[in-house]
Amino acid sequence: MAATLSSEELRRYARHIILREIGGTGQNRLKAARVAVVGAGGLGAPSLLYLAAAGVGRITVIDDDVVEETNLQRQVIHREASIGRPKVESAAEAMRALNSFIEVAPLAQRLTEENADALLAGHDLVLDGCDSFATRYTVNAACVRAGVPLIGAALSQWEGQISLFDPARGAPCYRCVFPEAPAPGLAPSCAEAGVLGPLPGVIGAMMAVEAVKAITGAGETLAGRLMIYDALYAEVRSITIHRRPDCPDCGGI
Ligand SMILES: [Zn+2]
Repeated sequence: MAATLSSEELRRYARHIILREIGGTGQNRLKAARVAVVGAGGLGAPSLLYLAAAGVGRITVIDDDVVEETNLQRQVIHREASIGRPKVESAAEAMRALNSFIEVAPLAQRLTEENADALLAGHDLVLDGCDSFATRYTVNAACVRAGVPLIGAALSQWEGQISLFDPARGAPCYRCVFPEAPAPGLAPSCAEAGVLGPLPGVIGAMMAVEAVKAITGAGETLAGRLMIYDALYAEVRSITIHRRPDCPDCGGI
């Protein structure tokens, strides 16, 4: 879909437009893009803010949680005054205050197997920043069915990981890499295990970086690679990941 930038938008996005890899064409693509973000928590907070600031034209935010006091240590899109309010409302308010040129669609719903296809329909790209293995598999399967690329990330204590899953274009899907959820107790949640406050900031911002690249075509995405950031020892490594022919989600594609 073509989008035309107004003179105000051309001024606003000047630091993007001057980048050779983005330019006016890339900024138009960002404006035309429809991106869904699952989770308005730690990973969603920075990715939503940066997607909004970058001028992604329509952003859907899906989350059924309310803001809690313990979220504020890392979920920087929310404010103390938002405690008790739906996260999607608090996030949408911050995004609209940052950029009135974009559309934000807050959906205060839990994404389930029953509604995933409908909630994600009509989007060009999905970012998954949820905190549950079950939801991650559901989002992955829906993205595979729709042929939509998925930027997935996860956190644990001091470590984060991120990739772009895209079997429609030859890259593995989430389930190719993680065929089965770990047994209960082996992968404790942030509430159980703790998480460094700025860590979702780093990984969530990387999700936004990868989203801008995927939409504009700049550079090389993380398709086929899993990037792992170890904050405790300040190390980053990338491992090559492959499609599994017998993957239950994308094996038939
Ligand atoms: Zn797969």
